Amino acid sequence: MKKVFVKSYGCQMNVYDAERMADMLATEGYSETKAMEEADLVILNTCHIREKAAEKVYSELGRVRELKQEREAAGQETRIVVAGCVAQAEGKEILRRQPAVDVVVGPQNYHRLPDLLKKSRSERLVDTEFPIEDKFDHLPAPSKAKTISRGVSAFLTIQEGCDKFCTFCVVPYTRGAEVSRPVARILDEAMRLADAGVRELTLIGQNVNAYHGEGPDGSVWSLGRLLRRLAEVPGIARLRYTTSHPRDMDEELIAAHGDLPALMPYLHLPVQSGSDRILDAMNRKHTGDEYRRLIERIRKVQPDLALSSDFIVGFPGETDQDFEDTMRLVADIGFASSFSFKYSPRPGTPAAEMGEQVAEAVKAERLSRLQNLLETQRQAFNHGTVGQTLDVLLEKPGRHPGQIAGKSPYLQAVQFESDVHRIGEIVTVRIVRAGSNSLFGEWVKPGDRAAA
Ligand code: SAM
Ligand code: SF4
Repeated sequence: MKKVFVKSYGCQMNVYDAERMADMLATEGYSETKAMEEADLVILNTCHIREKAAEKVYSELGRVRELKQEREAAGQETRIVVAGCVAQAEGKEILRRQPAVDVVVGPQNYHRLPDLLKKSRSERLVDTEFPIEDKFDHLPAPSKAKTISRGVSAFLTIQEGCDKFCTFCVVPYTRGAEVSRPVARILDEAMRLADAGVRELTLIGQNVNAYHGEGPDGSVWSLGRLLRRLAEVPGIARLRYTTSHPRDMDEELIAAHGDLPALMPYLHLPVQSGSDRILDAMNRKHTGDEYRRLIERIRKVQPDLALSSDFIVGFPGETDQDFEDTMRLVADIGFASSFSFKYSPRPGTPAAEMGEQVAEAVKAERLSRLQNLLETQRQAFNHGTVGQTLDVLLEKPGRHPGQIAGKSPYLQAVQFESDVHRIGEIVTVRIVRAGSNSLFGEWVKPGDRAAA
């Protein structure tokens, strides 16, 4: 059997796509390996969101090329594919910069991989045209055993692409226009996952809450409605979704946070900046106060909510005052977790052409201040759960023998001692300590609870 090694960079969409590529190649006789040295086929599933991410690909390709040469000397062939958003954005340039690459394939075209691998024997190939056919119609489902091996928490792509065109972002160019998968297809996939023991589904999309898929009755379903339907799938106990845009938080979705118990009290809702001037230049189409009011509305229906966000510091023209507005927004709202980045100019995006680029040292200083505040908030949120009893979905054995690891409703990692490992169960755990990256707790067995 031939072996394929897939390395994914960047977002959850890439993690999902990497699995689907492996499923596709399984039908061609490839089994997955975690060791690149033994792979007959190496796929780098790349990310183009920031310059650093894109450059990483070329250094990794240098290493893969050496490996290819070593294996060649030993009489073994290695084929190299570059997939994902760098593939989409740079296409032929990748073949030029790295002669060892056989195929470059965009995120919408990877269902054609088997064919591309065959054809590229005579000529190195680039396939980045946005296809007419829907790749999902051509992707095989993995075996039940494969799905089981991937664990009890799964990603499910419901939407791809983005029409928002934030001025800093490459996604609308690399992933294309917004497309929603039909409800029936999503339900089929959810039922297949549940049948293999999946308990938690995270619905993913570049702009997931813009979801507007065709329902079974022919009408257009919003994300709120889809979540309600998915909550009825037997076996599925937890639902999450990511990543959302504040402009697409409609009433139906907000209401779902209040009255859908399966929808976990965690929301990743990127704000990017707290300055109205910068938000406008970013083309985010919301102000800082609109974001504050939106959070108030969501907290009104679900006061018990862990909020998360993305931030960019040093966007072109960002002044000290603009940055202070971001710090104020963070202080006003309070985030349980977050991701923050220095602005990275991306070729072809409007912001890259804007005049006043912010000096690297200023960006670094702002990022460090922002991250200190966000980290303090994260630690405070985690410490706030000490003493509480939380429902924990058991995912895998813990770091030490006798420990088991799972996730709280707020997406925190939780570890506790347990003599039985019942992966997939949701148990009650009393949190006794908050470490820097995990919570530690004690299993509250049903009898203990009755006695308490
Ligand atoms: N669709 C999501 C949204 O609207 O927020 C996120 C898309 S992107 C994969 C994830 C995050 O990367 C963004 O929220 C943003 O904070 C960050 N990002 C995107 N482009 C960037 C750039 N040019 N420089 C720095 N960070 C960037
Ligand atoms: Fe990029 Fe998100 Fe803006 Fe779309 S909404 S352009 S994915 S940051």
